Amino acid sequence: MKTKYYLFEKICQIMADASGPRHTLMTIVKLVADHLHIDVCSVYMITPPDGDLVLRASAGLRLESIDTITMTAHEGLTGLVLEKGAPLFVKKPADHPRYKYFESSGEERFSTYLGIPLRQHRRNLGALVFQTVDPDALSEKDIPFFSTIAGQIAALASYGGLVKNTPPDGKDDAASTPSRPRDFVPPPHKAERNLLRGIPASPGIGEGQAHYLVRSIGFDQIRPEYTDSPGNEISRLETVAQQLRDEIRNMTENIDDLSFQDAAIFESHLMMLSDPSFRKDIVEGIRKGYTAAYALKQTVARHIQRFMKIDDPYLRERAKDIEDIGRQVLARLLGDTPDQSTTLTADTILIASDISPLELIAVRQKRLKGLALAGGGRTSHAAILAKSFEIPLVIGLSDILDRVQEGDHLILDGNSGLVFRSPSEDIINEYKQIRGEKKRLSRRLHTLKDKPPVTKDGHRLSLNANIGLLSDTPLVQLYGAQDIGLYRTEFPFLIRSTFPTEDEQVDIYEKILAGVDGRTVTIRTLDLGGDKFLSYFDAGKEQNPYLGWRSIRVSLERDDIFRPQIRAILRVSGNHRVRLMFPMICSLGESKKILRILEEEKQALADRKIAFDPHLPIGAMVEVPGAVKILPALLTCFDFVSIGTNDLIQYMLAVDRNNPKVASLYNPLHPAVLLTVQEAISACKQAGKPISVCGEAAGTPKCAYLFMAMGCDALSMTPSNVPAIKRLIRNSRWDKARADLAAVLEMSDEDEIGLYLNAALNGL
Ligand code: PEP
Ligand code: MG
Repeated sequence: MKTKYYLFEKICQIMADASGPRHTLMTIVKLVADHLHIDVCSVYMITPPDGDLVLRASAGLRLESIDTITMTAHEGLTGLVLEKGAPLFVKKPADHPRYKYFESSGEERFSTYLGIPLRQHRRNLGALVFQTVDPDALSEKDIPFFSTIAGQIAALASYGGLVKNTPPDGKDDAASTPSRPRDFVPPPHKAERNLLRGIPASPGIGEGQAHYLVRSIGFDQIRPEYTDSPGNEISRLETVAQQLRDEIRNMTENIDDLSFQDAAIFESHLMMLSDPSFRKDIVEGIRKGYTAAYALKQTVARHIQRFMKIDDPYLRERAKDIEDIGRQVLARLLGDTPDQSTTLTADTILIASDISPLELIAVRQKRLKGLALAGGGRTSHAAILAKSFEIPLVIGLSDILDRVQEGDHLILDGNSGLVFRSPSEDIINEYKQIRGEKKRLSRRLHTLKDKPPVTKDGHRLSLNANIGLLSDTPLVQLYGAQDIGLYRTEFPFLIRSTFPTEDEQVDIYEKILAGVDGRTVTIRTLDLGGDKFLSYFDAGKEQNPYLGWRSIRVSLERDDIFRPQIRAILRVSGNHRVRLMFPMICSLGESKKILRILEEEKQALADRKIAFDPHLPIGAMVEVPGAVKILPALLTCFDFVSIGTNDLIQYMLAVDRNNPKVASLYNPLHPAVLLTVQEAISACKQAGKPISVCGEAAGTPKCAYLFMAMGCDALSMTPSNVPAIKRLIRNSRWDKARADLAAVLEMSDEDEIGLYLNAALNGL
């Protein structure tokens, strides 16, 4: 009896100290199994969307079977327990007709089975299952006692969030952190008749009827046709282009909540319509005798082809803009303008192979609850617009056009990329709850905007933004980032057809600086190569571009590119808060060379009496593991350091950051990565130089928590990640984070680190 009381007491204590439902559950099953000498103690939970039973915790079954053993709620002895809603004791379970064997569990040696339903408010949540090798170790008499334990576990499951979904442990996805409401993750193994998986491109959850975007004539239907009156065709083209320009202007002027970056999208459309080379190409085609429509088709195809040759995915997607605008001109040439006034009479999820920003504007209304595209791009302008209009968007749903009919009831999840066709009541309710949670969370996060990122016990650091385009600048203010920790200057270079001159660069940087309202901007010099190439700069083909002629290596060999950029940055430092940073530093020799060039250019500006900040802080990006090893020496050349984890991880772990085949190996929680970041931070502390982290990992909760504990001065991230990371910091204690870091740095397995951090961050 004493044993039983001890056990209850201990379970209560574990629940009170709960470090996260998953961890708590594992601790309880282990305790019960150990204490009562039971070979197997397992918890199966009913899991959405299909209500299947999934093994969530077990002491005794193989660890790898957790989360992989799944059965429908009507399968096996455990299914029978749920059907009956009552405990079930079976001797020789393998002989029972409902017995179901799972190879991965290693369970055939057991001679008793006791299953107890986990119930809360008369609802089945799952089952607690005991198995023993000894046929006499369990009997029906044990049922009342085990039912009490089941009651405790049911309470934990119900209130600890295990019922809806337990996120997979070990991965640093935001879904598993407390700083965001959970996302819906269906079991991966299921036959998914009514589930479509795409790529999330604008967050949020939408529910409504499927409605196909009707678009009649596309370029593929335009055949070569000739005209006898090219003059007429040219003037038709001019009229139509002017008409479209007016329409775009009208539209943008009449949308009062059109943000700065959205306006920039339409501005780029207007520019394209007025681009003399675009017009000249079409007119040349017409002069050859083709109709305006066919000449337009040819011109659009040529321009798209040019863009598609560019390696940068952002710029490749600009080809879409050309197609969009071309299609708009075509529609007007053919008198086939889409009906802009479609009024949706019910909540709607719009389906299309793709959508242009103009089409999106035309259909945007209260009833539009989501967009599901067979194609699309994450950084397409339509995706940017959808985000700023807060319309959930899922792209890459390659089979949606075959699987969804007009009028089907859909739920679209822009956070996970899932689309449910004819969802069950359970799924509908589940999403209702998630939507409520998300609303509450974003309201709470917004209240943090003007609050400092400081831990409960007073440790403070800066949360900064990474930007690349002028259109990113409003986000800095929106999400409450303190400064700009990384401005990637490649973007303004990438979207041009020649290198911008020094003066043009001054203009570009001035605009960025004006857009961020007095914040300090860390401007990084060009980081070309790897996956970023300029159409007008032939760097030659390389076997291993990431290990080749890239970044500072290019700059140091090309004075004609490097020096004007340095001069331009120096010039804007004269009247703005600027820091200058160099990418991919890995040797003292190149650092000294950089300093020499910088001094020469400062002198040149001083000779010309051009103002600049003589004390402009100079920084090195540490993203090559070798640089960390010689950091104390490098620090003699630099005032500050920023760690680029995106590259550091790929170089440390030999995992290409852009290769989906090895994406699962790209893990920022790998102990080697963490130890290296810690080493770099310690070296900077020792030298009294500020250090930040600006790779993507800085915007993920687990890494941000560890980097903070390591003592870095700032984290720089995609602006929209700032509120969640700020919340995490404000809910943390520095001393506890230090203790967690010490524990993590003792571990040599990234999965173990992930699990540990799941527990440590849960509830923060
Ligand atoms: C990095 O490598 O972490 C980084 C911030 O630079 P980029 O992603 O531009 O290579
Ligand atoms: Mg980098």
